[in-house]
This record gives sequence, structure tokens and C-alpha cells, in this order.
Amino acid sequence: MVIAANFKTNLTRYQTREYIASLEKFIHDNSVRQEVFVFPTATSIYAHDGNVNVGVQNAYPTKNGAFTGEIGVDQLEEFNIKTVLIGHSERRHVLGETQELITAKYEFYKNLGYTIVYCIGEPLNIREKGMDEMMNYLRAQLIGIDMNYENLILAYEPVWAIGTGVTPTNDDIVKIHSILRNSCKRPILYGGSVKADNAKEILSLHNVDGVLVGSGALNVNDFCSMINDAENIK
Ligand code: PEP
Repeated sequence: MVIAANFKTNLTRYQTREYIASLEKFIHDNSVRQEVFVFPTATSIYAHDGNVNVGVQNAYPTKNGAFTGEIGVDQLEEFNIKTVLIGHSERRHVLGETQELITAKYEFYKNLGYTIVYCIGEPLNIREKGMDEMMNYLRAQLIGIDMNYENLILAYEPVWAIGTGVTPTNDDIVKIHSILRNSCKRPILYGGSVKADNAKEILSLHNVDGVLVGSGALNVNDFCSMINDAENIK
């Protein structure tokens, strides 16, 4: 399974290194077989050598250039980063990223062979319109996205579940992941208010291949507990 932590704008460089060091120890001591990812803030990335895959939460589709505030391939290569999160709802809805830019990022980093955790998810007003409208909304976020890309990890994250403590019902998660499975043979993660106390249940659901966790992963012991849950699922 894929167990991923998105730090968003949390933890300093020092705290990030301490966190990843603890995580490495846990993975080593417990012979963990899961794929573990951590997405620190851009200022906390470093060249990490170990079992934890360190990725970035965002990158611009460029090698370098005049893109104030952004980072590109030159900055990622300096730290041997080969994983990028694309399409997170906070970038879509808080920072105003368009599907056009998101698709351009996907294509650019796909062509460089990066592992891409590609996020999709519907806001509450779309959810309230029913399943058909909701699936149409999600499908629109997949237009122009190569679903056969070998290094794709898809993350379904309902916007209304992110950081709210609310999650869809298990039945809904299964239903939506099963529909997504028709067009995606790659791992499909669930994200949105996953915590140490609900991870096991969510990870056990059909067609859930892992979780993408924000606030619930900021404490390394909680994150390790979720990895342990994944280890114990048959
Ligand atoms: C996320 O940011 O991808 C996320 C799922 O956040 P949270 O776990 O805090 O809901």
C-alpha cells in the first residue's frame, strides 16, 4: 500500500529531518513493506537516502526561468527529488490553479518520469448534486491526464473532507474508488481527515490502495501507527 504524508505549510526544516529520521527508524525496525511518501514544504526538502520517498507538494512545469516563487526541475534535481504532488485541492481552490496548468504540470513531469500523486476531489456543493454530477466533476479533473502512466498514483480527496474531521461513508468511498478503478489501474489513495483512529478501517476498504494524510500525519507516531495498520491488513 501507499501511505503518504502531506505536511502542507507545517514543520520547519529541522523538524522535517527529525520526523523523517524517526520514520526511517520505524520502517527499518519493523521491516515495513509499504511505500511511504512524505511531502514537506519546499524549503525543507533535502537529498534523502532511505526508504522514505521525499516529494514536493508543488513544482512549476519548467527546468528553470522567470517564475517568481516557484521551483522547477533544477531545484528538484539538486536534492534528487523524483516525486511530485499535482492537483491538490488547496492549490486548485485556495491558490487558483486551473485544470489547464495542472494538466501542463502533469504532462511535463510525466515526460521526465517523475512519480506523480495526482489529486482529484469535489467540493460540497457538487457533492450535494448527487452521484452523477459528482462523477462528471471528477471526470473533468481527469481530462488530459494520462491514466496509464506507469508512475501515477491517483488520490481521491473530497474537498469537504480535507481538514474538517468529516469523511464520506465507507460505502461511498468504495463506490467512488470502484468507479475510478474502471479508468485507473494504478494505486488509488483516499485522502481527507484520515487519522490514526480511522486509518485501519479506510485502508481495509475495497479498491483503497493507500491513504494521503495531512494534519493527521503531523505527529510521526500517528503516521507510523497508520503504516502499521497497513502492514497488518491481509
Ligand atoms: C490533504 O491535505 O491531502 C489531506 C488529506 O488533509 P487532511 O488529512 O488534513 O484532511
